[in-house]
Amino acid sequence: MGGTQVHALAERVVGGGSVDEAEARLLIGADDVGELMREADWITRELLGPRVDVEELANIKKNACSEDCTFCAQSALYDTGVGEHALAPTSEIVERARRAREDGASSYCLVAAWREPPPRDFERVCEAIAEIGRTVGIDVDCSLGFLTRAQARRLKALGVIKYNHNLETARSKFPEICTTHTYDDRMATLRTAREAGLGICTGGIIGMGETREQRLEMALDVASVAPEEVTINMLVPMRGTPLALQAPLPDGEAERTFALYRFLCPRATVRVSGGRERSLRGAGASVLRGGANAIITSGYLTSPGRRAAEDAEMVRRIGLEA
Ligand code: SF4
Repeated sequence: MGGTQVHALAERVVGGGSVDEAEARLLIGADDVGELMREADWITRELLGPRVDVEELANIKKNACSEDCTFCAQSALYDTGVGEHALAPTSEIVERARRAREDGASSYCLVAAWREPPPRDFERVCEAIAEIGRTVGIDVDCSLGFLTRAQARRLKALGVIKYNHNLETARSKFPEICTTHTYDDRMATLRTAREAGLGICTGGIIGMGETREQRLEMALDVASVAPEEVTINMLVPMRGTPLALQAPLPDGEAERTFALYRFLCPRATVRVSGGRERSLRGAGASVLRGGANAIITSGYLTSPGRRAAEDAEMVRRIGLEA
């Protein structure tokens, strides 16, 4: 697809229209990736303005997860040399929320490594969310695995804004990435969260050996659930996991993918998440001018990141606002 056609689709999207599957396929394979990114950036600025959303994560319960996701250093099935696995004390979760607010983060996401929340731990997470609501004042999102309807309604009642549950990869790739649960289990959790009135954040990881066609497949499925937020990670191969030796994506593939998400989910927050420091030019600055409009700062679940002040400076340098 040439620049004129890409621009025509960008104009359609800004005007409230959408792109279909055939057009999405042409977009991700556009002749000129720079042109594609410029059009995705134009859509972002027209619809959402110059602001970059900054989020901090709190890994409130690390490691020893029962699931076998091949990219994940927190699975109990792989010898990754990590040990800690109790749920963090409420006081620590609340204190981290306070620090995130002081760093200038607009949201704080509580993430736990388990298949689903054990009832007693779920109660403790709820206590922490209520305490953050009373004493900190920052938007709280959660990523706690599979949820029952009652748990989803409880989170909504506590003021949780969005529930994160990633599809991880394309449906056609999923059985290679995880065998302990299914892609449909993940889709069902997104429905449960939506039915409870929670906003949805979903996405996955690119660079796990999937094809470009499979990146398109995942993007179309993500768009089909109309998420408020899309979160895309680039694989950071973790020692001890089956993907430890995975080769990186070819140049430009991540950039094409972020641009495509902007065309498919024009009003969503599109967050460039784990792996940006390692895989993207300018630690993600390139894709913040190519469709993405959000970052995670101050580190990830199992890998370090950049300091909030460094990221704020990067955002200013490329003419955007943190
Ligand atoms: S990705 Fe989530 S469900 Fe899968 S092993 Fe890691 S923590 Fe468990």
